Amino acid sequence: MKTKTVDMTKCCKRVYPKERYGSFHGHGCCKKATLVEDGKPYCKTHAPSIVAAKEAARRAQWDAEARARQAKWDAEAAQKHADKEMRAVYPEMFALLERTTVYMEWRDKHMGDLDKADRATMTEARALLARIAKG
Ligand SMILES: [Zn+2]
Repeated sequence: MKTKTVDMTKCCKRVYPKERYGSFHGHGCCKKATLVEDGKPYCKTHAPSIVAAKEAARRAQWDAEARARQAKWDAEAAQKHADKEMRAVYPEMFALLERTTVYMEWRDKHMGDLDKADRATMTEARALLARIAKG
């Protein structure tokens, strides 16, 4: 029995150019076939296994991005909730932090005796106050 040989001169995929709206006239892919899948010749772009692998990779990328986005939203929501709780439970503490920060700022301006670490603490306190104040 004669084994069927696959014609490798051209890829068997039909391609549909999108340059003209409403054009449904496809033509054969003009690339040389280098792979045989299901007994048909394919170029490296159109081989079903390669197309499927690319699609799977794209989907994995989308899924990873969606998960990262969701995690970010969850973290933001959790932070907002925690901030809200802190505002409600410890109002005196935040009032005190506000007064302390205002005092440190006054001291920095008028006495000029704050060092680098003091200023870093002041900046941190300001950032926390700003975050707690909103939302
Ligand atoms: Zn092709």
